[in-house]
Amino acid sequence: MNSIFAGLPTTVFETMSQLARQHDAVNLGQGFPDDPGPRDVREKAAQAVLDGWNQYPPMMGVPELRQAAAAHYRHWQGLDLDPGEIMVTSGATEAIAGALLALIEPGDEVVLFQPLYDAYLPLVERAGGVPRLARLTPPHWRLTEEVLASAFTPKTRVVLFNNPHNPTGRVFEREELDLLAEFCRRSDAVLVADEVWEHVVFDGRRHVSVLSLPGLRERSVKIASAGKIFGMTGWKVGMVCAAPELMKSLSKAHQFLTFTTPPSLQHAVAYGLGKDPAWFEDTRAGLQRSRDRLADGLAALGLTPLPSAGTYFLNVDLTALDPRLDDEAFCRDMVERHGVAAIPVSAFYARDAVRSVVRFCFAKTDATLDAALGRLERLRQAA
Ligand code: GLN
Repeated sequence: MNSIFAGLPTTVFETMSQLARQHDAVNLGQGFPDDPGPRDVREKAAQAVLDGWNQYPPMMGVPELRQAAAAHYRHWQGLDLDPGEIMVTSGATEAIAGALLALIEPGDEVVLFQPLYDAYLPLVERAGGVPRLARLTPPHWRLTEEVLASAFTPKTRVVLFNNPHNPTGRVFEREELDLLAEFCRRSDAVLVADEVWEHVVFDGRRHVSVLSLPGLRERSVKIASAGKIFGMTGWKVGMVCAAPELMKSLSKAHQFLTFTTPPSLQHAVAYGLGKDPAWFEDTRAGLQRSRDRLADGLAALGLTPLPSAGTYFLNVDLTALDPRLDDEAFCRDMVERHGVAAIPVSAFYARDAVRSVVRFCFAKTDATLDAALGRLERLRQAA
């Protein structure tokens, strides 16, 4: 057995969802919305299945979706993408795995940022990359010159970056992105950007894609997720955008990983990407209200929420409650004794973990959020 995978625990999301079921808890752990997703998009998918879109579509994706994605990103992010620079994958995770397999030569240094999404590190290692971990810390989780200099070397070949950032809820500022771009150019590295939360940004923010940063158009890979855009996480329809030279290699990896993605879902996503901009704004506004509802409720319980500028997630720093608290023990106790599941942020560190932060998912109905807060009321009484 391969030691990288054999040595891994089950993902924290699966573990916490399992515990949530076992203890009949309100699940604010794994990030998925309560809402079933836009009805018109779901109808398109159902109709496409009935209409017979069930055989292998083109390996790069159905042309309608690639065109719709180009138009979508022109409108929302000012990107000038040719449909030939867009490839459809079976979820963003496939896109990330494919990009790493396609770009890494054994021994290449790969820069990653902790806290990191749990799939990143094993995929980098399995592709033969030598991980170099930069470390972000609460409460600001800032990308500074010092943080970047701790991980970049002249041997950096690939950088795997996530913005908006899970689990911190950070949307990196323009200066931070420019600094990252400068480090990538200096090391002659390719920047692989997981931008799956691109539409989930709050308080009037606009997502800035790495493809729009100076000098990065030819050296970055943008990865997107229809599951996140439409709040239907089980769909597993991802999109990869990159300049033709990079795309040549990326498509080779994709053709032997999943080859294609269900054409019915691709047609529905093509339709969805062209939805009225108001739908995207309303969805975002709804999530922002949910964020605020949870933040206010947690604050009232004496838990200190950290800022959340994007994603479905809000973190609390336990230090204010009690500096001795450990995030894992806290989450276990919360699910077992109080019936609320969350995610310990230490699970997003491979080493030197921050152990005082807990992540809550707020992409839920008011009733679900209120039920969780109601149960946590006992937490305050117990304190
Ligand atoms: N992206 C989801 C989250 O961060 C988890 C996805 C998964 O369960 N693998 O909660």
